[in-house]
Amino acid sequence: MTVIGSVRSTLSPDLGLDLGTSNTVVYERGAGVLVSEPSVVAFNTRTDEIFAIGHAAKEMEGRAPSHISVVRPISRGTISNFRAAQTLIARLVDRALAARPRIAPRLVASIPGCATDIECKAVEQAVRAAGARYTTYVPQAVAAAVGAGLDVTNLRAQMIVDIGGGTTEIAVLGTAGVIRLASLQVGGDVLDQAILQRLRFQRFAIGARTAERLKLELGFVGRAPGRDSLLVNGNDLDAAAPRARLVSEALVGEAMQEGLARILRGITSVLESLPPDVSADLIESGITLTGGGALITGIASEIGYRTNVPTTIAPEPLTCVARGAGEILGSPTLLEQVGPHADRFTRWYQSLRIGMRESYSP
Ligand code: ADP
Ligand code: MG
Repeated sequence: MTVIGSVRSTLSPDLGLDLGTSNTVVYERGAGVLVSEPSVVAFNTRTDEIFAIGHAAKEMEGRAPSHISVVRPISRGTISNFRAAQTLIARLVDRALAARPRIAPRLVASIPGCATDIECKAVEQAVRAAGARYTTYVPQAVAAAVGAGLDVTNLRAQMIVDIGGGTTEIAVLGTAGVIRLASLQVGGDVLDQAILQRLRFQRFAIGARTAERLKLELGFVGRAPGRDSLLVNGNDLDAAAPRARLVSEALVGEAMQEGLARILRGITSVLESLPPDVSADLIESGITLTGGGALITGIASEIGYRTNVPTTIAPEPLTCVARGAGEILGSPTLLEQVGPHADRFTRWYQSLRIGMRESYSP
């Protein structure tokens, strides 16, 4: 590295960007999580101007006037609205770097395992527009593993399951490479919808945000912890009038069952596809859970029980992906393996991409 190069790398921040379906998180190595906001953008359909992003936009979801459109630019693990996604990334990276001398950061963006080349390109463009000296992107599950503190250079295989809002990303990692990568289009949002549907079946309509609140406060898998029912406001469909009603823990738990079963089936089918030596490793190294879904009461013991693989929850599961993406740039062991040799760097990421392709099935 030249002198200029090394000065530049000391001064310019190393950022990790987690472009999640529910939350976008920006992390700086050495400084921590700088920004964490819902991946939501509200724009004015008359003037085509961005009205709000992040928390402010999420507040408007389900209660916006007709000329304001509230979108989630990343839905079901893919970028469904390019412009909104680019605005979201640009604004959040900007916010993270506010009040900073403008030295272009190095950045690792983490993307869902099923993202296509075009989607990667869109992320790249957005990151560039935000002023970053773009580095590269990694599958979310790989970043999650690093952020969860797993030693991804370990010879022994390890499994990571990142349960987000729109997708569940599963990876089995060997020596700094991916053995298996799968991306399921099921996550927290499906659980929210199931709760909403179940109440609707009982002629009571609630919004998505209320459904999410019920999940956070009363959700569980396995044995019910026995919490009090929650009073929520909604619309009584028979009386056609607003009303408050009590929702029990049992109702919420039952509604969540099917979605959780899909996640479990996804995990088991990845496990079934593994070579025997890799499976054997997992009995020792276990499954690590990250993402907001890791916080569902009882999920670790349920997965452990169903798969017979010891399952633990990573510390601070919601920020693992961003932290991991940022740390990849700075970890001496990872850099030792992947850089500064451009060739090997590229090849390593290519190997990740290939892993990603091979096991992705819609
Ligand atoms: P993404 O990576 O898709 O942006 P996150 O990892 O940020 O998703 O997780 C968001 C999801 O996790 C949402 O569906 C949210 O409702 C859910 N979630 C967050 N906290 C909890 C919790 N304590 N219990 C259950 N689900 C949670
Ligand atoms: Mg995520």
